[in-house]
Amino acid sequence: MGKKCTICSQEAMFWVKGSSEYYCQGCAEEHFGDVSLLVPADEQAKNLKKAMEEVPEEDEDEERREEE
Ligand SMILES: [Zn+2]
Repeated sequence: MGKKCTICSQEAMFWVKGSSEYYCQGCAEEHFGDVSLLVPADEQAKNLKKAMEEVPEEDEDEERREEE
């Protein structure tokens, strides 16, 4: 949420993997022709959230080990 199209500043639907460029549906089709090359913006957010959730779990595990 909150990402905007690099070209027209509308809400972005797609993200270019490995870059900081975002595109709405219309601009993605116009510039890439095939939107299957792009990552859906909400999927990128999901991956980031997953990565953030995994970190505290590891920390908790280490703390528990130190106490024993
Ligand atoms: Zn656009």
